[in-house]
Amino acid sequence: MIHKMPELPYAKDALEPHISRETIDYHYGKHLQAYVDNLNKLIPGTPHENASLEDIVRKAEGGIFNNGAQVWNHTFYFDAFYPRAQKEPHGALKDAIVNEWGSFDKFKEEFAKAAMGQFGSGWAWLVKDGDKLRIVATSNAGNPMRDGLKPLMVIDVWEHAYYIDYRNRRADSITASWGILDWKKIEGRYEK
Ligand code: MN
Repeated sequence: MIHKMPELPYAKDALEPHISRETIDYHYGKHLQAYVDNLNKLIPGTPHENASLEDIVRKAEGGIFNNGAQVWNHTFYFDAFYPRAQKEPHGALKDAIVNEWGSFDKFKEEFAKAAMGQFGSGWAWLVKDGDKLRIVATSNAGNPMRDGLKPLMVIDVWEHAYYIDYRNRRADSITASWGILDWKKIEGRYEK
């Protein structure tokens, strides 16, 4: 099975000034494209040749896992942004966040801490763990589905995600993400 590039649900310059067109050109157009191409080169003749991307994320090891999970993680990441984002959660997801952290602001503070605390390349995630919400960080291509958790939202903290726009200022790139993360999309993931 040939894995394809996901479509972006917005124009490449639509997230400016939070994320520049140049970052999208490199991060989506070159980094993600390379993970897709590598995955397609690695799977022929292996047990993962006809596996779904989700199965690869759950079961593969080595290069197939690294490239497959990077495809899954980036697809999930890029898909939750929107230029006219619903900037706060509503309904059941909001209730669950308030129940866990006390307020949406406090959640954002704790999430940023986890994203800043991830040493080196990786991802910070909001996940569903049974009935509860949790914030987790993973290294490199790590994905919380490997631990039975359901991802709801993710921020990429690899330097390639922010170095063009924010240089070494990872914290500023996390703050900027709150302006374009679409909580309507994330609510849909929570309710599914
Ligand atoms: Mn990335």
